[in-house]
Amino acid sequence: MKILVLGAGVIGVTTAHALSRLGHEVLVIDRGDAVASQASQANGAQLAYSYVDPFANSTTFKKIPKYMLGFDEGISLGLTRKFAYYAWGLEFIRHCTPKKAVENMQIMLELARSSKQAMSQICTEIPDATIRAYGAGKIILARTPQELEKLGKTVTLKKSYGFDVKILDKKNCIIHEPSLKFWQGEFCGGIYAPGDKVLDPLLFCLALQAHSESKYDVRYHFGHTILKLKQANNKITQVQTDKNIFNCDAVIVCLGEGANKILKTIDKAYPIYPMRGYSLTLPAGKHAIKTSITDPLSKIVVSNLGGKIRIAGFLDANMSEAKIGSREQALLATARKLWPSVAQYDGDIDFWSGLRPMTPSGIPIVKKSKINGLYYNIGHGSLGLTLATGSAQRIVQLIEGAPQNSGALIREENHEFAK
Ligand SMILES: Cc1cc2nc3c(=O)[nH]c(=O)nc-3n(C[C@H](O)[C@H](O)[C@H](O)COP(=O)(O)OP(=O)(O)OC[C@H]3O[C@@H](n4cnc5c(N)ncnc54)[C@H](O)[C@@H]3O)c2cc1C
Repeated sequence: MKILVLGAGVIGVTTAHALSRLGHEVLVIDRGDAVASQASQANGAQLAYSYVDPFANSTTFKKIPKYMLGFDEGISLGLTRKFAYYAWGLEFIRHCTPKKAVENMQIMLELARSSKQAMSQICTEIPDATIRAYGAGKIILARTPQELEKLGKTVTLKKSYGFDVKILDKKNCIIHEPSLKFWQGEFCGGIYAPGDKVLDPLLFCLALQAHSESKYDVRYHFGHTILKLKQANNKITQVQTDKNIFNCDAVIVCLGEGANKILKTIDKAYPIYPMRGYSLTLPAGKHAIKTSITDPLSKIVVSNLGGKIRIAGFLDANMSEAKIGSREQALLATARKLWPSVAQYDGDIDFWSGLRPMTPSGIPIVKKSKINGLYYNIGHGSLGLTLATGSAQRIVQLIEGAPQNSGALIREENHEFAK
């Protein structure tokens, strides 16, 4: 089959690789001039398989007024005239009940489990040190005993999906990550996931591109802005860009936050809303870490990418682009205050920001559309790097016609955004 993969972020690159391994002729089209030119470029670098907890939950629900009124430093849910935002918000609220949050987490854990398996297969296939995921696990900090208790409630569920997660008190957190002695914020313990890893997303995409081009003849077409998709007799036939028309047997839409603009030309818009986040990449400080650390209260994650420290976080809806610089400075100030010696804040800093393609439930839309040959792999929100490989496997299953009673697909079919 001739398959067009639209978008060369981490979702498109992993999808193209998975399909090309089956012998399909695969072309990837992107408006950027290289892979990972948008959200996949300098994100938090976490393969957070055991921390896929949906943002929609009862704790977030209680904080919505604070986020909307601008009283939280890490999260800003600003107002806008866009109707889509409020429709998204109502749907988000529907997913904040404890029951929904658990159901959604189960779907995410299943996808995380298959992503972890698929990633370890890729790591054995590509003998390139650049894509080796490294790190000594991940700790999610709890500021108070109540927070620790709440985080701890998810441990049994996570273990039932095969993830090794432990509750640690403060002393044991410091034994696993001695640099936490120099953390200036409150914390009383955390959840430790030794199997979670860190991976530079840009290097990963570049390595996978090079491998799939040389081994499987995948072709990348950069500098093409996709304008519309065309069908005939309910079958996808063409993709039109500003430079060319591409004929095809199948199309996989992996356009991140840009998906809806194109989907509206053939289907309808899906509940995906862009939420901005930021990162800093700086030289390691005298108390550099091995374990990656997430602080849910300040909404930052800190990890060591082989000598460089990546600090990522914050989540802003409807933030004007003019404010990107001040939000990056706010992230820098937060990190410096909480962990003054983890990085050299006066050294060279690479600032970056990107838009997370968020669904209300947090669950990505990985499905076959009503139009024959048209598939969607979109809406990976805050977890696209983590879930890319498992989502690519699901696309393979859908294209190859995996039995409809396969466990993973049934759960997905039942999910409202995967109908
Ligand atoms: C600050 C921050 C930190 C994050 N940290 C993590 C983390 O630690 N772990 C994790 O798992 N996830 C993390 N994420 C989320 C992750 O980065 C995203 O989920 C993921 O990158 C989405 O990948 P994507 O391929 O769907 O989108 P993108 O990477 O945005 O790719 C979409 C591609 O489509 C192309 N495109 C769009 N429209 C068109 C068009 N009309 N024509 C041609 N091309 C088009 C774009 O050029 C782009 O290359 C983070 C995100 C942010 C913002």
